[in-house]
Amino acid sequence: MPAKQNIDHSKSPLNVIISVDVELWPDNWDLGHTEFNRCLNKFIHGKTTSGNYGLGFQLAQLKEHNLKCVFFVESLFSGHYGIGPLQEIVAQIQEAGQEVQLHLHTEWLGRGRFHNPLNKTGYNLFNFNQAEQQLLICQGKEFLAQAGADNLLAFRAGNFGSNLQTLEAVPQAGFIFDSSINPRFYIKNGLDTPLHVEEYKEGIYEFPLTIFKEWGGRLSQFQFGGSCSFKEMANLIRQAWINEWHSVVILSHGSELLNRAKTRPDKIVVDRFVQTCRFLANNRDLFKTIWFSDIQPETIYAKSKESCVLQSGFINTAHRYLEQTTRRLYG
Ligand SMILES: [Zn+2]
Repeated sequence: MPAKQNIDHSKSPLNVIISVDVELWPDNWDLGHTEFNRCLNKFIHGKTTSGNYGLGFQLAQLKEHNLKCVFFVESLFSGHYGIGPLQEIVAQIQEAGQEVQLHLHTEWLGRGRFHNPLNKTGYNLFNFNQAEQQLLICQGKEFLAQAGADNLLAFRAGNFGSNLQTLEAVPQAGFIFDSSINPRFYIKNGLDTPLHVEEYKEGIYEFPLTIFKEWGGRLSQFQFGGSCSFKEMANLIRQAWINEWHSVVILSHGSELLNRAKTRPDKIVVDRFVQTCRFLANNRDLFKTIWFSDIQPETIYAKSKESCVLQSGFINTAHRYLEQTTRRLYG
């Protein structure tokens, strides 16, 4: 890794898509309103006795650092709870000047009052055929549009549970961009090789979650909460820029900054998020956070698949394992 003073600043900045999946999960699918409010506080507002570390906290940090972020909002829960709560979530994000796109968890099908348009259920989109996937994506899009989301251009399947039929269904549902592939699980996604950003076929562009090879060879992903420390993230973003990638995609969740039990902030993960925001804000000449609505499809270029593996070194990988151990110790 060259020292910063040796970096060639004439290169184009690397596009960085910070993406946050916003979703809620009832315990035991007890779908009463008391349970819903508890869920909303936990997964959306991130309420703890030490303060709120959910959507509001993330939006405030992004504003403070003047960064763009894409919020993939799960909308099928509205099939049970109505459009009102979804409207509030969409308004909070859009009023903070950030972008809303569609996320879909088919686990909501057949729950409570949800009017299931299909006579079947499934935990992932790949459990459904192409026509069914299209219908579900259109249903999710309609909920989000009713809730006030504008300029819906991009889609992400829940659990990255997509397959090649998803990449057919997504443009048919009126989207241009897809981010439903996690190259760590490309075989599950029905692909022969992990792919980086490229035009999948006319009219649909894939932006997979960015992955990297950690020291020792294991594949890991750009995600604050599990598998990427701040040092790794900063180093790997620089690597992508040096190798002239078009973009990287970082994953987070509305409740990602909380511990596993969602009872308190996870200090290490909060620090990773805040430090990454600061790093991107301090290096705007090299890295540019973008929304999907900023992307001109004709400017997208793919790197060859062989050149796409980012590598983390021993020290950064070891440091993360130490962090993970600390996190586990404190629950
Ligand atoms: Zn999700």
